[in-house]
This record gives sequence, C-alpha cells and structure tokens, in this order.
Amino acid sequence: MADKSFLSWPFFEDRHRQLAERLEAWCAKNLPVDHHDVDAACRELVQKLGRDGWLKATAFDTDNPGPLDVRTLCITRETLARHDGLADFAFAMQGLGTGALSLFGTPEQQQWLSKTRAGKAISAFALSEPRSGSDVANTEMTATRDGDSYVLSGEKTWISNGGIADLYVVFARTGEAPGAKGLSAFLVPGDAKGLGIAERLEVIAPHPLARLSFDQVRLPASALIGRPGDGFRIAMSVLDVFRSTVGAAALGFARRALDESIKRVAERKLFGAPMAELQMVQGHIADMALDVDAAALLVYRAAWTKDMGAARVTREAAMAKLFATDKAQEVIDKAVQLHGGDGVRKGHIVESLYREIRALRIYEGASDVQKVVIARQVMGAA
Ligand SMILES: Cc1cc2nc3c(=O)[nH]c(=O)nc-3n(C[C@H](O)[C@H](O)[C@H](O)COP(=O)(O)OP(=O)(O)OC[C@H]3O[C@@H](n4cnc5c(N)ncnc54)[C@H](O)[C@@H]3O)c2cc1C
Repeated sequence: MADKSFLSWPFFEDRHRQLAERLEAWCAKNLPVDHHDVDAACRELVQKLGRDGWLKATAFDTDNPGPLDVRTLCITRETLARHDGLADFAFAMQGLGTGALSLFGTPEQQQWLSKTRAGKAISAFALSEPRSGSDVANTEMTATRDGDSYVLSGEKTWISNGGIADLYVVFARTGEAPGAKGLSAFLVPGDAKGLGIAERLEVIAPHPLARLSFDQVRLPASALIGRPGDGFRIAMSVLDVFRSTVGAAALGFARRALDESIKRVAERKLFGAPMAELQMVQGHIADMALDVDAAALLVYRAAWTKDMGAARVTREAAMAKLFATDKAQEVIDKAVQLHGGDGVRKGHIVESLYREIRALRIYEGASDVQKVVIARQVMGAA
C-alpha cells in the first residue's frame, strides 16, 4: 500500500485528498490494461479516462473558466503512473497536446477541448525535429503565409500519439525574427491533407510515437494559435505548467518501486531470515524513501506555487522535474537490485519500471537542460 502521508501536507486542499482516494479506487478496478497493441491500449485508456471524468483536469473548461489546477494534474499523474505507465501517458498527452489551446486558443480553437476532456479526441504536441530537440531555436519546419492560409512544410519527430492523434499543436518557423523569436504555433487536425506518418518509432517502454511529415499542409489563417512569432513563448508557457507533472509521473514510478521493494524484502528469506533484517538492505530502503519524499516535496512545491497564481514557475518546475526523474531512476535501479534475478525478468513490474523511467529524463527538456535552466534562474536572481 503506497504511502499517502504526503496528502496531509499543506500544499493540498480537501478536494485533492478526495480526488486521490477516488482515483486510487478507479485504478484498482480499471488498471493495468493490456499493452500488446499500444495504439489500441491508448485509445481504450483515453476513452475510459474521459468517460469517467478524469480528463476534465487536462484542459481549460470553456463552461466554467479558470486556470488548470497543477496539483490535480500531479496527483493524477502520480497515481496513474504507480498503477500503469501507459495510463499516465494517455492522461498526460491530453494535457500537453492541448496546453497551447487552453492557454492561448481562440474560442473557436477551444471547441476541441470539450472533446479531448471527454476522451473523444486524442491530442499531440509537435515541437521536436530530427535536427532540433533540445535546440528549439533551430526549428526548421516552415509555415508560409499564402493569402488566407498558412502552408506547413517539414518534419517533426518523437511525437507522442503520432499516428493516433485527432489534433496536433505544431510549432513552425514563420520568420518574424531569427531563432526562437521567429516561431509560431498552429492547430493541425489529424486528417489534414499532406500530413503523413513518415515512420513509427519503437522505444524501450512502448507507446504511440512517430516521425511526421508535412508536405505542403495548407491551413486556414485561423489555425494560428496566439500571434505570429509567439510560438516559443507559447511552448515554454505550456511546459511551465506541465513540466512539474513529469516529475509527478516519475514520483509515481518511484513510489511503486519502493512499495514493491518493501514487500519483497519482507517476504524473501536470505541466510535464514527475511532480507529486511539485513542492515545494508535497510540502508537501500531508507535511501529510496528519502528520495521519494524529497521528490514529492519539490513536485508539489512547484504545483502549489503555480496554483497560487505565480506567473512563471520556471525554477521550481525545472528543479521538480530534474530531481524527481533522476532520483526515480536511482530508486528503481535499487529496486531491481533488491529483487535479484527477478528484477530483470521480462514482465516483472520492476523491470517495466526500469524501462518506463528512462525517457522522462530526456523529454520535455533533458536533465542537462534543466540544470542550465536552474543555473540561469538562480544566477539571474542573484
Ligand atoms: C519517449 C519520447 C517521447 C517524446 N515525445 C515528444 C512529443 O510528444 N513532442 C515533442 O515535440 N517531442 C517529444 N520528444 C522529443 C524530446 O523532447 C527530445 O528527445 C528532447 O528534447 C531531446 O532532444 P534530442 O532527442 O534531439 O536530443 P539532443 O537535443 O540531441 O540532446 C542530446 C543530449 O544532449 C544533452 N544536452 C542537451 N542540451 C544540453 C545543454 N545545453 N548542455 C549540456 N547537455 C545538453 C542532453 O543530455 C540530451 O539528452 C519525445 C522524446 C522521447 C524519447
């Protein structure tokens, strides 16, 4: 049984505690799903999460306007990740994919949100390219104005939900200025003419992922999100909301690894006694618990700060993502070690956690990038 004592921290309100309890019961009943066909699994997860109301938190509610509640996003991601990494992925992408619409969309563009919040449309966020991942300023895809249209040409890669998404938020160069200041964001329907799947990408923790080709994709001018040249600012504002939630997912994986390890060392006998009686084992468990609690403090500090109305939480979110993902990797590695041979057996829960955690230290800003962000923030403030 996962430790829930963090829910008594002052970062939360009673509605968050109730949400955690209800979601726990939902997860016990509905997760994990069969992962053999990841496209089908993701569609099923989005449909079920939408049907039962969990996706409402992922996007702006046009009937009841208000900011996204980052603590709700984080508690949900942590809980889903503890039960099923793919369920966390399905939930997270509905938010990341529509973040630009929630924050900057026109009322017409925001009509998509009632569908994504109900699990009736799947969304994706398309920023990375073959030659620009960390270096967003180097984006090469172009969006050329042609009368009342924009024409998009180029490639995007590593796009989660690529191939199954109903809508993509795509960042392309419109050229108002060199580098990051010459990018704009566009809403692209999944069935737009000229948008194709160039390649499906397989990774160690499978989920729908693709390289996309844009061959003269013509969009009405109303597909522009925000103003021309605002693309980088929009992408960074979206990441400002969702980056700490990546830390929350890592926290969920780490908590599961800790739980599995506590169970394992209590049950497994070594040298005539439970493993749990060996002091070196206790040392590992203590290190894991410490890292989990420290990560939780940073994640929920970032979420609370944003929910309290901070315009930007760049430093807090970067610290939360960096620490929670790096430490989750260490916690899970210790869990594998404590499980001995079973820890590397295909299909064992700690083996799958070992694969699940790795990409979180790369996407939405690699760990090294988070260090650069933190250093700039603290040196700039000094
Ligand atoms: C599973 C997965 C899902 C993804 N989903 C999406 C998605 O939905 N949408 C999307 O747009 N992108 C997505 N990405 C892409 C992801 O954001 C990029 O992979 C990431 O930004 C790194 O870019 P890159 O792979 O081009 O690596 P590079 O930019 O080539 O960087 C390689 C490494 O260099 C190091 N590095 C980078 N910058 C610095 C620095 N300033 N100082 C020191 N070291 C540095 C880091 O260790 C980094 O990992 C996904 C990636 C993965 C693996």
